[in-house]
Amino acid sequence: MKDTIIMFDMDGTLLDLAFDDLIWNQQLAIRHAEHHQCSLEQSQANLNQFYQQHKHTISWYSSAYWTQTVGVDVLQLQYDFKQHIAPRPGCFELLTQLKQQGYRCWLLTNADQAGLQLKLDQIELQPYFEVILSSEQLGYSKEHPLFWQKLQELHPFSSQDAVFIDDTAPVLDAAQQFGIPHLFSIIQPSSGRDARCQTELNYPALQDLTELIDHLATINTKVLHEQTA
Ligand SMILES: [Mg+2]
Repeated sequence: MKDTIIMFDMDGTLLDLAFDDLIWNQQLAIRHAEHHQCSLEQSQANLNQFYQQHKHTISWYSSAYWTQTVGVDVLQLQYDFKQHIAPRPGCFELLTQLKQQGYRCWLLTNADQAGLQLKLDQIELQPYFEVILSSEQLGYSKEHPLFWQKLQELHPFSSQDAVFIDDTAPVLDAAQQFGIPHLFSIIQPSSGRDARCQTELNYPALQDLTELIDHLATINTKVLHEQTA
């Protein structure tokens, strides 16, 4: 059981997505409007158009790409508001318990390497993880099947023994297609937004992250039964 690798998404899973909402849905539009001397409405309309074009691609997650595209230093913007970066409920309780129980944990994020570093500087996640990886390193976002292939080439693992937690449905779908059997979503990725409806999420979902411990116990019992059957 301790060969199980618990793979975590970062934003909206371990960390509160309220920070990313603040940056991408509020402050970027304000700074973009200042920079281009246009109204906030105009700025929001322009940014929405870009978002629709690039959603779920590797460009979507690149601060450098956005800086180049919209003319605002998006990484600097994140640094300016870094005090808003915060863990989700149960984050450290869960990671501490998993570490005590000897689980191997990996952090797999679509945040680019610069954004990842900023978050690791603010929140002490590093000591809990054996592997920390930005999809930028692989050249494919987690929604893309090649992300999972390339991850396995770089860090060999048995997909059957992996557990993966992520708040984004298309990412979970790609992981499922790759063959990861134990997938979990997050009920409320952002503290600034309402909780999502469990029945609409397609995957079992966690409110407090520590709920994962009970799920792992169930998975381990099942595996044990299969082995002894
Ligand atoms: Mg996420």
